Amino acid sequence: MTQPHQPKERHKELVQLLNAYSYEYHVLDKPSVDDAVYDSLFSELKSLEQQYPSLITPESPTQRVGNELKDGFEKVAHTTRMLSLNDVFSKADVEAWLKRMNKLLPGVHHEFFADIKMDGLACALIYEDGKLVRGVTRGDSFIGEDVTQNIRTIKNVPLRLRETAATKLYLQGRTEIRGEIILAKADFTALNENNRAQGRPVYANPRNLAAGTIRQLDPQLVATRPLQFRAYDLLRDNPAEIATNLKAYQLISELGIACNKQASVFSSLNEVMEFIEYWDKARHELPFNTDGLVVKLNNREQFAKLGVVGKQPRAAVAYKYAAEQATTVVRDIVISIGRTGAATPVAVFNPVVVAGTTVQHASLHNADEIARKDVRVGDTVVIYKAGDIIPQVESVVLELRPSIAEKFNYEKELARQYPELEFVRKDNEAVYRVRGASGPILLKRSLEHFASKGALDIDTLGEKNVQALVDAGLVKDLADIYTLTKQQLLTLERFGEISANKLIAAINDKKQPILERFIYGLGIRHVGVQTAIDLTVNFESLNGLGNATIDQLKNVNGIGVVVAESVAAWFADEDNNRLLQKFEQVGVVPVYQRKAGNLAGKSFAITGGLERMSRDEAADKIRAQGGEFKSSVGKDTNYLVAGKNVGAAKLDKARAYGTTILSEEELLSFLAG
Ligand code: NAD
Repeated sequence: MTQPHQPKERHKELVQLLNAYSYEYHVLDKPSVDDAVYDSLFSELKSLEQQYPSLITPESPTQRVGNELKDGFEKVAHTTRMLSLNDVFSKADVEAWLKRMNKLLPGVHHEFFADIKMDGLACALIYEDGKLVRGVTRGDSFIGEDVTQNIRTIKNVPLRLRETAATKLYLQGRTEIRGEIILAKADFTALNENNRAQGRPVYANPRNLAAGTIRQLDPQLVATRPLQFRAYDLLRDNPAEIATNLKAYQLISELGIACNKQASVFSSLNEVMEFIEYWDKARHELPFNTDGLVVKLNNREQFAKLGVVGKQPRAAVAYKYAAEQATTVVRDIVISIGRTGAATPVAVFNPVVVAGTTVQHASLHNADEIARKDVRVGDTVVIYKAGDIIPQVESVVLELRPSIAEKFNYEKELARQYPELEFVRKDNEAVYRVRGASGPILLKRSLEHFASKGALDIDTLGEKNVQALVDAGLVKDLADIYTLTKQQLLTLERFGEISANKLIAAINDKKQPILERFIYGLGIRHVGVQTAIDLTVNFESLNGLGNATIDQLKNVNGIGVVVAESVAAWFADEDNNRLLQKFEQVGVVPVYQRKAGNLAGKSFAITGGLERMSRDEAADKIRAQGGEFKSSVGKDTNYLVAGKNVGAAKLDKARAYGTTILSEEELLSFLAG
């Protein structure tokens, strides 16, 4: 069902959309989407361009800093370009950054300088002989807007630099101080509340309010807003005057300008990572917003030597903390049937990291919800996940919808995905359910399956006992059987002392079921005995299986997209996850038994009748010794066991595949080792 996007088309659409978002953000100071959404689409664009460099155009946001300049302000060229920063998201990214630098500057021991990344508007303050002469926004990195009049209203921007014995030199000639104009969180809330009360527009976040304010044409209005300036850089005509970034920060403070006291020097990458981890939590306590940390080389000569690629210096990165939103593309919408017979649509998408974990599916809840959000296969969607909360599809990025994306026809899909079932939707209900399969019937069927020979093989838990337990309300899901007590059983007519003890013992005996039997017993659609074995061998634990991506599932020999999606959908279902948790709570621990029998790596099929055992028994024995049992001969079947009355054509076909034909006797000697 996946509708692949054509790279060229996708690139064009991403560029258009990101430029539109950028305009709203940088020029209008009114973003329509969260930064995480912008960042996510931006990184998709970046990887697309890495894969297809010929797609890069000068209009691509990967090639530009900021955006067009706002009318009404004089334009000023920067003496040194005001750059952007490359984003990194993990320790591995930071290590890769260091590796790149080591390659360019081999044999140099690097000292790192890290600071909190303030989420504001970048600005350069130019002092001549200690006097503030100009304030300029970053603009497009080469040219900024002259906002001197507005900057002068910011209370913590000194109009004259502080003179001390240590700062004397910097009060001579040109000293440029770069930093962020920010608004404290508390001031932002108060201002927005005031705006709301007066019916004026409210701002999306402190960053946009700060940016919108500084680019106001009326300095009197600016003066009413409690903006602050916090510096992160000091430039002199002679760079040799300031050897390190630490020294720059010390001087900035001495000169009477605020900078973050938290900034520190580190001698190893591990220390930097500890600092990053610490601020992941602590940043929420800061009075201003931050979107990460800036890590750069402390030595400014090395920094300059490493130069610039595109619009980013090589010697610095912005570490971005896990965002709670991200974008991805919906590959499929599968429907899972819960234990109550309710059909739940699940969106399956390209794996994406949200709030620090990789997710690849999210429940779309029911027919109404899917219609309300109008999620379609091929759509780019915004996924939201806060902390441990289950991921949700928040919205569809309509601008990126492929023209061929069809509206999801729920009833048609139910019929396509479950041709054998009939569904009904009661008035006033959002949920479709399997017709006639009220909760108890489905539960009975799935419990019978769970307890059956091929699955957990629970002695005496057959059809009649299952019926009695479910009808009496003693068992409401599969895990409930493990909490049954003798007293409860004795309240039922079917049970006496002996039979009650027997059933309880049989159930307890299967508290550590063999993993593949447990997986088969869960009744995941399309997962038969052999598939359960294949999945077990590959993932080795329930958790491993539950976290597997569709691509990983498809990589398992013998598993195609239909099974892969069915497994993924099962594990995406909230009900099923609750059931797994319940199994854990009642002490059920499936165990993985590594198979190393004599038949490991060999596959068998059987045709015709056997005399010494049934076909199922033979299959069990083959599996018990690590072999694979196949229901029919295929190209990859090693042996075909030929029983009675097998036609020559069948055997010829097997031989054509290179499959060896065995008699029943030969199979028995194989099994005997
Ligand atoms: P950036 O602004 O994220 O990073 C570079 C800047 O970090 C520097 O220019 C500097 O001003 C600033 N900075 C803050 N603290 C610093 C410190 N301690 N040391 C050094 N520098 C510090 O990068 P960018 O590419 O210029 O801007 C992209 C940002 O804008 C992203 O966060 C993106 O999400 C956002 N954006 C959002 C939208 C939207 O629609 N929501 C649109 C466009 C851009």
